Amino acid sequence: MSVLLPGSIVNGQPATLGVMGGGQLGRMFVHAAQAMGYYTAVLDPDPASPAGRVSHHHIQTDYLDEQGLAQLMQRCAAITTEFENVPAPALFTLGAHRFVAPASDAVAIAQDRAAEKAHFVKCGVPVAPHAVIETEAQLAAVADDLLPGILKTARLGYDGKGQVRVKTRAELVAAWAELRQVPCVLEKMLPLKDECSVIVARSGTGEMVHFPVQRNLHRGGILAVTEVNPGVIDPALAQQAVAATKAIAEGLQYVGVLCVEFFVLEGGQLVVNEIAPRPHNSGHYTLDACDQSQFDLQVRTLAGLPLTQPRQHSPAIMLNLLGDLWYAPPELGSEPNLLHKSGSDPNSGSDPNFGTPPWDKVLALPGTHLHLYGKLSARKGRKMGHLNITGATPEAVRATALQACALLGIEPF
Ligand code: ATP
Ligand code: MG
Repeated sequence: MSVLLPGSIVNGQPATLGVMGGGQLGRMFVHAAQAMGYYTAVLDPDPASPAGRVSHHHIQTDYLDEQGLAQLMQRCAAITTEFENVPAPALFTLGAHRFVAPASDAVAIAQDRAAEKAHFVKCGVPVAPHAVIETEAQLAAVADDLLPGILKTARLGYDGKGQVRVKTRAELVAAWAELRQVPCVLEKMLPLKDECSVIVARSGTGEMVHFPVQRNLHRGGILAVTEVNPGVIDPALAQQAVAATKAIAEGLQYVGVLCVEFFVLEGGQLVVNEIAPRPHNSGHYTLDACDQSQFDLQVRTLAGLPLTQPRQHSPAIMLNLLGDLWYAPPELGSEPNLLHKSGSDPNSGSDPNFGTPPWDKVLALPGTHLHLYGKLSARKGRKMGHLNITGATPEAVRATALQACALLGIEPF
């Protein structure tokens, strides 16, 4: 592939990078690309999409709309994706005419839990015991030792959606019916001690760099807290996680930023959970705690620029800010503010506790970095933003994070 230099002119147009999907990940990609001098184009049908609102160009069509894809190609020299549920065929179409990273075949594997697991096995990385369920016969043949388990739709799941926890065979049958008998994977419920993730960036010439191993705490199937400092994960385990992530990326001949999520079991074994073919929520701390963020590396891989090993310069904690915080009861510290009085948001109903969280108090704490995604309505469970906390020591970072939790009504960790 050729190098697309920042600020250059290509065929009479400013060098422009494109992204399929206009959510918060697309928005942070756009910010990073623009900081480096690129123009950007976002394809997303939603006129209010977080990335569309900050991009030079916003193409508001469906992901498979031929005219929309043609416009994106006309504008952009290279195109990435921010969202693994962008249909792989759209990336395939774009890839025939433009440099697309990650490539559609790698994204297609990440879009299907069964294909993804088969890839992990091929790479020699341990996975949870599981069975693919696509037919009544496969359902009946499920081994007893996979229960209790989690039935997950093979495609289109995120933030714990499309998953049902099942204890018995009867519950499994009911759960598959509830999921409308779409192809699923049943995973054995594993005793988790911890969860962690690793983000790598791999260039078109096969260079690979990685961020440190991140420890993740999920609540209700949604990432709540990420903590990154050298003490959080046992060094031998961390080394193993980085090696497994690199093997998975290498096996896909992956180009771009890739996140691999792992489980750490009670007995200390590492098991891979899933991959995201894009920057990941657990890598948002890199915006403030590293000399290059995961979005900077996404820009570099897409533009064919060199990769250098990123360096974390501060211990960090990231707190996800879900829409729930806009509904926090005042005794936990949130005061409804005048601009956003209860009822001004269509989703707040008549909830008297609805209001903007006290960001002024949070930002009075040292080392806090607020990132909001520009979403206008706060629904429960919706990712509205994140708060990064940096500091001189892991202990100081943790103390500040707990103070922020108390102000915002986030359960301490
Ligand atoms: P996202 O895409 O937001 O990461 P997802 O919907 O793809 O989420 P998973 O990563 O499969 O969902 O699962 C969400 C969470 O549920 C995991 O991070 C973990 O906490 C728990 N979980 C999933 N599978 C298992 C399992 N086999 N055993 C124990 N816990 C599990
Ligand atoms: Mg997950």
